[in-house]
Amino acid sequence: STYTYSAGPGMLPTEVMQEIQQHLLTFEYEGVSIIETSHRSASFQRVVDSLGWRLRRLMHIPENYAVLWLQGGATLQFSMIPMNLRKQNRFVYVDTGIWSKKAMEDAKYFGEVDVIHPLVDATGGMSFESSLVQEVDYLHVTLNNTIEGTRFTHIPEVDIPLIADASSNILAEQIDVERFGVIYAGAQKNIGPAGLTVVIIRRDLIQSLQLPSYLQYASHVDTLFNTPSTFSVYVAERVLKWVEDCGGVEAMERLNRQKSDRIYSYLEESTCFSPIVTGERRSLTNIPFTTGNQELDLRFERYALERGLLELGGHRSVGGLRASLYNAMPLEGAERLVDVMRAFEEETHV
Ligand code: PLP
Repeated sequence: STYTYSAGPGMLPTEVMQEIQQHLLTFEYEGVSIIETSHRSASFQRVVDSLGWRLRRLMHIPENYAVLWLQGGATLQFSMIPMNLRKQNRFVYVDTGIWSKKAMEDAKYFGEVDVIHPLVDATGGMSFESSLVQEVDYLHVTLNNTIEGTRFTHIPEVDIPLIADASSNILAEQIDVERFGVIYAGAQKNIGPAGLTVVIIRRDLIQSLQLPSYLQYASHVDTLFNTPSTFSVYVAERVLKWVEDCGGVEAMERLNRQKSDRIYSYLEESTCFSPIVTGERRSLTNIPFTTGNQELDLRFERYALERGLLELGGHRSVGGLRASLYNAMPLEGAERLVDVMRAFEEETHV
């Protein structure tokens, strides 16, 4: 089998891809594809409704939250959030890496940004210093840091809205929605194809503002404001059905812990490879690792590629290697990677 360990877009379940292939030329009518179907048709509306209900069931999203399906990726949310939630024009961001930095850079166009740093405890768990947070519109966290391979293990109580970028861990681990004012994510890792972004927002945070129409959250609540990425919506609905059939987010988290444990355990015992992050804060979905030697890292990347293991290169800003294990990556994909690392280690006698 071929596996892709790309950080995004990630793998999608094979069963879902086969189902889509089979139905590609016929959605409601023989010979009319989903891609050619109006987003205003009753049949497409049923898909959108089902997608929303599936996400609500999977994440236990209460009625007082709206679920919006937007475009522009998580990146557009970096500006839609400050644009829509500003009152005092002051925000706090926890700086946990490249994506959190990009989020705060965009927020600076709309107000003053205070930066706080994560706290790491004796077991390597990650949280932040909550007493520093006062009189701001919200506090922003990146729940899982796709590039650095870290995650928050504890989110302290604060009395302002918490905003979470969950792009790389949504549906991959349990998230207590009611602790957050907004949770947003690009779909292309655990939900479906690129081109779709989900925003889960507590309804009382939605203000009526003087903003261009698309950029206001209020425009998108309980309605399709404009043409969404229809194909991505359709595929996402099928993926969420698959997640429900697999046992939901609880089952996904169990599987993701199993997969990442296999790889972390091997990395800890290996004399050739080592993990870049240690302790409780290490990610369940993104595992950066290295041989400690750039040339050897590249050799391994090629070695793995020849054996059908794709996209193991590290992020260009970090270097080294990285394995991303989103929901659709089966346990066999993690085991196969360990086997190939072990074979490489033996062959290179490091
Ligand atoms: N936030 C996180 C944590 C990410 O991992 C990514 C993409 O990898 C983004 C934001 C940017 O997402 P998009 O490409 O959907 O704009």
